[in-house]
Amino acid sequence: MVKDDCIFCKLAHGEIPSTTIYEDKDFRVYFDIAPATKGHCLIIPKEHYQDVFEIDAETAGKLFALATVVARGMKKVLKCDGMNIMQNNGTIAGQTVFHFHLHLIPRYDGDGVDFHYAPGEANMEELAMIAKEIRANI
Ligand code: 5GP
Ligand code: ZN
Repeated sequence: MVKDDCIFCKLAHGEIPSTTIYEDKDFRVYFDIAPATKGHCLIIPKEHYQDVFEIDAETAGKLFALATVVARGMKKVLKCDGMNIMQNNGTIAGQTVFHFHLHLIPRYDGDGVDFHYAPGEANMEELAMIAKEIRANI
């Protein structure tokens, strides 16, 4: 399915130009227009899925398999020191384009990028209950 007002649907099908690293019938991998670091790219399914709550497990699995292959190629070419793989779902989580996408963000010593959050405290009893509830819902 293609969503008419979705910028990444247009990009997926070449209606909006992108610097594409890789493309097949199901996926496109292209550089982010506002990169966090050199080589920051995105992997999208060509089909429209809004987020992780909507994408099917098989497509998501294939997409992540592709990410591992692309990541190794990027590391070789960009000679990055590490990589963050990020995927935002919902405005609160930083999602700004509502077509599922995976960020591959090469990291370089001293690049100054900060994804820091303050560690919280785990409530073991509560977590055991939540684990049981989630287990019953997957
Ligand atoms: P999000 O915040 O939703 O996880 O990430 C959306 C990403 O898409 C951002 O990093 C943004 O720079 C990128 N982006 C938005 N519009 C375009 C575009 O038209 N072309 C490309 N290549 N990237 C885009
Ligand atoms: Zn879309």
